[in-house]
Formats: sequence, C-alpha cells, structure tokens
Amino acid sequence: MQVHPTIAGTRAASRTARARGARVGLVPTMGYLHRGHLELIRQARERAQWVAVSLFVNPTQFGPTEDLERYPRAFERDVALCEGEGVDVLFAPSPAEMYTPGAQTFVTVEELSKPLCGAARPGHFRGVATVVAKLFHIVEPDVAVFGEKDYQQLQVIRRMVRDLDMPVEVVGVPTVRDADGLALSSRNQYLSREERDRALCLSRALASARDLVAAGETDAERVLERVAVILSEGTAELDYAEIRDAETLAAVQRIERPVVLALAARIGATRLIDNTMLTPA
Ligand code: AMP
Repeated sequence: MQVHPTIAGTRAASRTARARGARVGLVPTMGYLHRGHLELIRQARERAQWVAVSLFVNPTQFGPTEDLERYPRAFERDVALCEGEGVDVLFAPSPAEMYTPGAQTFVTVEELSKPLCGAARPGHFRGVATVVAKLFHIVEPDVAVFGEKDYQQLQVIRRMVRDLDMPVEVVGVPTVRDADGLALSSRNQYLSREERDRALCLSRALASARDLVAAGETDAERVLERVAVILSEGTAELDYAEIRDAETLAAVQRIERPVVLALAARIGATRLIDNTMLTPA
C-alpha cells in the first residue's frame, strides 16, 4: 500500500490503475478507523479492483465550537488497518494540501442540507459536499462507498452526484453496530463506561420505533413520543428526532411507505447520531 500526502501523487496512482483497466473505488473517512469503516472498504473491494481510502479530518465541516481539535487520531493504526484490508492507496493530505489559501468555491446541496444535522450544524454539509467533490476530482473513482450511519450525508452526496453529473456510483452500506446495538463511531471514544451504557438508549429507541410501526402505528408524532420517552429514560439530551421521507428528507406525518427516523442526542458532552428505516406493516 502506498501512503500519499499529495493530491498529485494520489491522482497519478489512480490514473495509472485505471489505465491498467482497474475499476477505481474510493472510501472517504476522517480516520480513527473502526469496523464500520472496514466494512466500507470491503464493499469497495467487491466493486473495484483498485481502492483508495482518504483520511482527512476536514476542518470545513466542523463548526467553531465543535470537536475539530480533539477529534481522535491514530494514523499508524489506520495505516495498518488499511494495509490489512488490501487498500491500494491511503490518501492522507494536510489541510494546507487540500485547501489553497483564498479558496472561494463551495458545493451547496440546498434543501437536503437544511433539516436535521444541517439545522444543528450550520455549514456542515457545505463542508462535506465540497470536500467529497474535491476527493472525487482527485481520485476520480468509478464507485464511492459511504455509510448509512450518516444518513443525511449519504443523501446529500447522492444528490450532488446527480445534480452535477459526476460519473461516480454511490454505494450506501448499512450501519455496523456493536453486539449490544450501539452504532460504531469514532466519537464513541469520548464516552466514559457509564456514558457508553447510557448511549444504548439511541438504538433502543430506534428498535422500539420499528416495533411500533411494524405493529401498525402510522402516526409519526406518536412514534416520536415513544422515542422521546426512551431517550429521556436514558438521560440523553435530545437534539432532534424526526421522521422524514427517505430520499427528499421532507417531513412526514403519516408512515405509509418506508421512511427514515433520524436522531441526534447528547450523552454528556458527546453528540451521537443514529437512524433507522421504518417500514409500515
Ligand atoms: P467518518 O470517518 O466518521 O467521517 O466516516 C467515514 C465513513 O464511514 C462515512 O461514510 C460514514 O458514514 C461511515 N461510517 C461511520 N460509522 C459507520 C458505521 N458504524 N457503519 C457503517 N459506516 C460507518
């Protein structure tokens, strides 16, 4: 595996692979890799003969009061994990390599970026869409793999690709969880043992919502009431819990087709997100 800190080196490696006839895959990450990331890499491997992983804690998707500085980093470990998965190139640029001073071009996916995490984190999805567009131009992948864990992000990227005619197949991968249901996240690292136990209320709330809908409940408000009760029992501080159209993310009152239930909550100082599809009986 090659580790490239530069745009030019990464692009050259990708073009060489493509010239040899390989289908090119890309898995964008912020590092501190866990089994969720590794599953994305495996899915990329199944669809491409040459796979790049990007490792970049993207400053432009963090708000001024967020955790950019203390976001967990473990470069050597990430390198070893990528090597173990047969990754061809790890693209690990510095912020200076990614952003030329005075950059003033951004990608904004207007409506999809507004609700849910977009409301809580202004500018976040502009940062995400812009860096992913840049990664697509650098690596020129045929296929790029993202997690459903970041459901809104996946929809934003799908829409960007469609709207801007990017020749990239976007693949979404179901959320990888610990055995007790907690969705894997690099930010789980922030949780104390006691907080990790409390954090289980997120997946418990989602499971309970799924059960309620499978049993015939179609009123979104009633489902959200159940979710709020379970989160408050778990002493999670709710940021949002909303039921929305799975593709447009428009608000939904009645659950008459598969929809997404997305939530964000704070356990102590740590903000966690999770989501599930709700399929009517
Ligand atoms: P991150 O490094 O957290 O920015 O995530 C990089 C990619 O991994 C994104 O596409 C995430 O959606 C995906 N991802 C993060 N956690 C999980 C998980 N538990 N299961 C599946 N994919 C995940």
